[in-house]
Amino acid sequence: MLTGQQYKDSLQDGRKVYFEGRLIEDFSTEPGLAVPMNVAAEGYDKYFSAEPGALNPVITAPRSAEDLREKIPELLEMDLLLNVTYQSIMTLIVAASRIATSAPQFIPRIEAYIEKARRDDIRITECITDAKGNRSKSPSQQDDPDAYVRVVERREDGVVIRGAKLHISAAALGHHMMVMPTKTMKPGEEDYAIACAVPVNAPGVHITNTTYHPTDRDPRDFPVSSEKSVPDSMCIFDDVFIPNEHIFLDGQVEHAAVFAHSLGLWERLGGTAFMVEQADELVGLAQLIAEANGTQKISHVREKIDEMIIHATLLRAGLEAAIMHAHATPEGFYYPDDMYTNVTKYQGAVQFGTMVRHLHDIAGGAVLTAPSMSDFDNETLRPFLEKYMSTGDEVSGEYRTKIFHAIRDTTADAYGGWHLVTNIQSGGGLFAQRLVTRRHYDMDRAKRLAFRAAGLPSS
Ligand SMILES: Cc1cc2nc3c(=O)[nH]c(=O)nc-3n(C[C@H](O)[C@H](O)[C@H](O)COP(=O)(O)OP(=O)(O)OC[C@H]3O[C@@H](n4cnc5c(N)ncnc54)[C@H](O)[C@@H]3O)c2cc1C
Repeated sequence: MLTGQQYKDSLQDGRKVYFEGRLIEDFSTEPGLAVPMNVAAEGYDKYFSAEPGALNPVITAPRSAEDLREKIPELLEMDLLLNVTYQSIMTLIVAASRIATSAPQFIPRIEAYIEKARRDDIRITECITDAKGNRSKSPSQQDDPDAYVRVVERREDGVVIRGAKLHISAAALGHHMMVMPTKTMKPGEEDYAIACAVPVNAPGVHITNTTYHPTDRDPRDFPVSSEKSVPDSMCIFDDVFIPNEHIFLDGQVEHAAVFAHSLGLWERLGGTAFMVEQADELVGLAQLIAEANGTQKISHVREKIDEMIIHATLLRAGLEAAIMHAHATPEGFYYPDDMYTNVTKYQGAVQFGTMVRHLHDIAGGAVLTAPSMSDFDNETLRPFLEKYMSTGDEVSGEYRTKIFHAIRDTTADAYGGWHLVTNIQSGGGLFAQRLVTRRHYDMDRAKRLAFRAAGLPSS
């Protein structure tokens, strides 16, 4: 296994990673990359064992609904890079079993890859979302054939791919990118049915980064995003050679969606659990600021917080239902129920705006205008800030200001904006969640109830 320092050293491998147009050779010089790199390094140190042959202990698949429930605190504790690595490896395990009969040639490769990835203790990110061009056209109908990642050349020892994967979380910080088709492909689209592992430093790979990390700002004014941020990347594949041992699907259009579907099994649990935690955190912030403002007993404030509690609790109930109704794959791995997970995720995303509106309504304008913590360092200003930000002997100005900064950082600044969009788009957007929910909902039963209410025969 790697230590945190060995992980950091391993990133100096000639990769082409860019930040605001600059090629970054040493991540420690760029805070938007250095901070998440350090968080990932802590994740390495946390699970490190010097025992020969030791493997990361968290990369295990749940074997029962109870295992699933126990996995949640583990997932919430993990750094994001380890989390997506976990999901990538689980995805390969499940996808392998699903294509075992019809495309057996890939199975020994996938198994060898998983074993080596675990032995080498590498981090793997998930690359599904293509540029996609015109959304109403399929990959083969696009004006630019590279709108979806595709094979442009086949050789005896591998293939050459071209295209880009967009919005990829933490891609710059991992060792490999797991590239898989974003959706079903049809006959004639064989070149787009490609799943493979691509080393981040492979010739032809270029990775841009965006981040909400508050570079150059006082971290005390950004208590959440200064400590945990993840860059999102466009991963460009400019004719990248992929050796055969890294190819897990090539041309089998009927299996194109298997990898993305398998990933869905694993990514939902963590995503939904995070959303549930986030809802409780918003309730907590609303209660803290109401108490600090002296409004916690005023009826309209209490009602808003009650509504927030009800929403947060319903999300938790949805997560519980998803676990209680867990299903097993043929290999005996347990995953949360599709319908309950999608409903919970949808509600979490849709209601996030209402939660934030209540929080801002309760908190007041200092969400945006609370003085910087460095103003408190100024000897002239501090007494005034203490005096005017305090709401009484039990609530110091500094204490109340810190709550405002946490609220602004989480909901009203760059990180807050990132949350808002990510909640809606993650897992394929609200449309995808509506689709899955309708597919699994018992509409026949609903219609029977309606017929009965209307006094009509049900068939
Ligand atoms: C911060 C962040 C991190 C992300 N991390 C990752 C990651 O690590 N890996 C990864 O692979 N992806 C990642 N994603 C991508 C995410 O899954 C996509 O943003 C999402 O699937 C939507 O795709 P899109 O952004 O291309 O939007 P679009 O596909 O353009 O969707 C925009 C809207 O158009 C609708 N739409 C588009 N096409 C159709 C159609 N044919 N029919 C009906 N409606 C349609 C969608 O439903 C949606 O409402 C991330 C996204 C964000 C914001």
